[in-house]
Amino acid sequence: MAKIYPQIIKGKFRSIKDITLIGLFLLYFCGSWIRWGRGERSPDQALLIDLPNRRAYLFGIEIWPDEIYYITGALILAALGLFFVTSLLGRIWCGYTCPHTVFTDIFLKIETFFQGDRNKRIKLDSSSYDIDKLTRKVATHISWLGIGFLFAFGWVGYFYDVKKLLQDLITLKVSGNATIWLFSLTASTYLFAGFVRQRVCMYMCPYGRFQSAMIDKETVLVTYDNERGEPRAGEGEQERGDCISCNKCVVVCPMGIDIRDGLQMECINCGLCVDACNSVMEKIGKPLDLIGYKSSVISNDQQKSKTILKHIFRAKTIIFSLVFVIVAGVMLYSLTNKSTCILSVSKDHGALFTVIPDGSIRNTYDIKIFNKSSRIKNTELTIEGMENIKFMVQDISEYVDKYNLKIKPDAELEYRVFIKIPNDNYNFKQKDIKFILKDLNTNEIIVKHNSFVVSR
Ligand code: SF4
Ligand code: SF4
Repeated sequence: MAKIYPQIIKGKFRSIKDITLIGLFLLYFCGSWIRWGRGERSPDQALLIDLPNRRAYLFGIEIWPDEIYYITGALILAALGLFFVTSLLGRIWCGYTCPHTVFTDIFLKIETFFQGDRNKRIKLDSSSYDIDKLTRKVATHISWLGIGFLFAFGWVGYFYDVKKLLQDLITLKVSGNATIWLFSLTASTYLFAGFVRQRVCMYMCPYGRFQSAMIDKETVLVTYDNERGEPRAGEGEQERGDCISCNKCVVVCPMGIDIRDGLQMECINCGLCVDACNSVMEKIGKPLDLIGYKSSVISNDQQKSKTILKHIFRAKTIIFSLVFVIVAGVMLYSLTNKSTCILSVSKDHGALFTVIPDGSIRNTYDIKIFNKSSRIKNTELTIEGMENIKFMVQDISEYVDKYNLKIKPDAELEYRVFIKIPNDNYNFKQKDIKFILKDLNTNEIIVKHNSFVVSR
């Protein structure tokens, strides 16, 4: 596939793209610098995936490895959001917000800065190397590598305290893993945004392939108005439409396609051809939007403004948004109510029961309590399920009916618990019991079921 030399164009959609690009760039690079106090034992980076300690931080939320389903939920939300937006506005995500588009755009701006606009770049590429060409090319590639490294640094900063990463970079003490990631992300950004470009969207990204399943006649897409534009200039002597065959919509297209050929899988709905054609229409004094964001229904509709809401609220978009709201609601509820303590209880695998010298029957259990919060937990353990039940925790020497346990932040306690009941000739072989752990600070209660065995 021949290299594409998109021409730079000014206009409404180019400005929206630029504002989006700057906003996303800032969001990406500033995100890892936001601090969030979590006490002394936990990192203070608001957004961090702490792989060595196996947890993720999202402001006040901590995600542990056993809560990986939140990541699945987030991916489902992202997919539903994408389906919703695609059914409304086609590949608008690709045209404005996809990281590949954003970085390709930045790379193209750098290329244009050092090598000039389309015609100059074509000329430069076809000329033989001299000092001027070499300087321009070297400056472009060094800047591309710099941006690639910035992207890599930003990414690794979400996995490695970003302040420490900066210090370690300055003192050349970055860990081996981080160095490999920095190197490979720099190289892949340089390769994909600098050279592979539109081929990623055409051949590598699956989204473009299945977008056709999400769009319909009401989806707003960049469309050429055939009725108004055809026959174009240069197509015989007959009466002409508004298209003057200037080719401007083609030369600005980052995907190298001609939107006048109709809806194409390659089109990322970026709107640059709209800006290009509108600039031509302004010059020749014709109405704007020969190419524009239109749905086939809206463009044929005589009463656009009255029915626009109907196009937005249709079965497909309502279903996507409803499922989105339900999944988001479930996730939000579960995140705000999730337990910061894990209790596990397992019965001793040795003797099923023991008769102790005072005649009571005793069962033994191993309990583990894990404090997932960054604060000390004061808890109370009780056991229910039978009359006259008493238990002894291994670090005390008396049987009690409740016991207070203090667990340090991020720490696990392991205890052996002995439960005894008087031997009163019970008419059961085993009975269900409940281990109840109450957080005395939050009143949160965790219950684990197990069984008490009195005979074989
Ligand atoms: S055809 Fe227009 S909207 Fe589609 S990718 Fe090309 S410039 Fe962007
Ligand atoms: S920019 Fe407009 S007038 Fe020029 S070729 Fe494209 S559609 Fe025709």
